[in-house]
Amino acid sequence: MHEFCEHYMFEIVPLPYPYNALEPYIDEKTMRIHHDKHLQAYVDNLNKAIKDYPQLHGMSVTQLLQNCGRISGCVRKEVYNNAGGVFNHTFYFEGMSPPCCDRCPEGSLSEMINRTYGGFEHFKEKFCNAAMSVFGSGYAWLVSDRNKCLQIVTTANQDSPLSQCLVPILNIDVWEHSYYLKHYNKRIDYIKDWFNVVNWGMAEERYKCMKSC
Ligand code: MN
Repeated sequence: MHEFCEHYMFEIVPLPYPYNALEPYIDEKTMRIHHDKHLQAYVDNLNKAIKDYPQLHGMSVTQLLQNCGRISGCVRKEVYNNAGGVFNHTFYFEGMSPPCCDRCPEGSLSEMINRTYGGFEHFKEKFCNAAMSVFGSGYAWLVSDRNKCLQIVTTANQDSPLSQCLVPILNIDVWEHSYYLKHYNKRIDYIKDWFNVVNWGMAEERYKCMKSC
């Protein structure tokens, strides 16, 4: 994935595909507003939050999230929420790709999913249930813990698993702005559509990279 090696001033990472590339599962208008308005606002607000804190200007988004406890109390919450918004969204956008016929994990990630969940269909069911269980705004994630075991977790608002020493593999944004224009209140329909645009190649890369770290 994008390494967020850049630091202050942060810039928005462009979508790695055209705005309409995820049609008919995720519509162009949603993608335009989600990326250009929502993500841009988190980037702008993160820059604003750390503007007067030069000691934070050399840190990447990942480093800000992993070291949030050490950031000055006056600005910590602002940094946490906005760095989370930047990381979580960029990770989500890069975790999708234009739909093609066969959408399932491959390689070592596929083996680990089968071993952990007893098959891809069982995994999908568990992941759907987790994404449905998020009350209000948040995300569902496939993560790896420090023992290299897979877990499905949920986070509220812009909390990030990075702050809990977990390594993210895949996430779905279930804030209503991710789906309301097309799917209205039917979050389950959005989750099912999202499975058609998951970039399993990227998920596999993230998993392999984590294993070799
Ligand atoms: Mn969002």
